[in-house]
Amino acid sequence: MLELTRSGLNAVMLAPNGTRFGDWLLSTVDNQFGIGMETVRLHVKILTEPSVSIEQMLVNMQWVYEAVGVRVQRVSTETLNLPLLNDLDVGTCGGAASVTTEQTELFGNRNGGPTTDVVLYFVRSTQPPLNGCAAHPDGEPSVVVTQGASGWTLAHEVGHVLGLPHCDGPGSRLFDRLMTGGGTANISNPPPDLTVGEINQMKRAKLTHPV
Ligand SMILES: [Zn+2]
Repeated sequence: MLELTRSGLNAVMLAPNGTRFGDWLLSTVDNQFGIGMETVRLHVKILTEPSVSIEQMLVNMQWVYEAVGVRVQRVSTETLNLPLLNDLDVGTCGGAASVTTEQTELFGNRNGGPTTDVVLYFVRSTQPPLNGCAAHPDGEPSVVVTQGASGWTLAHEVGHVLGLPHCDGPGSRLFDRLMTGGGTANISNPPPDLTVGEINQMKRAKLTHPV
């Protein structure tokens, strides 16, 4: 850390844990994960507006992600008129190998969204009915979010794209965690939590870029 002075640069000491700056308390012992901000860049594509607004979903996502040092940036917004893909066949929604013809067609609408960014497609519904699906072909990071999605679906699906699996099994649903497998509509005690391991995975992901 360097301090600019009139005559040059001086090395300064980082303030120790417990230092107070006015009303702020510096708590360096709480930093269990890598310091420094990362950004995940999002492109919004709208076939159908969801019932919980996109703005609300983004605010919720920022609430969870930015608290752990991952900024959420909405880069672009576009409306797509693709009625035949509005009730999207997502097959088993089981990863890159499960991507259907309809998903491949939909994800062909990145329209300049770089492969280092995540493209969000808001559709009316999926077949079978899900809140969202994060399965995408390699090199085309994408998620699908449906009209009936919860306020946490977007943050959850992008979590999958960043490499996070579900955190629980059918017998032990963890409804205070973002990556619960029991349905984000059941999340209690918001904002939902991320573990240190999950945060480190998010920051390692190719889709988070240093600010
Ligand atoms: Zn999931």
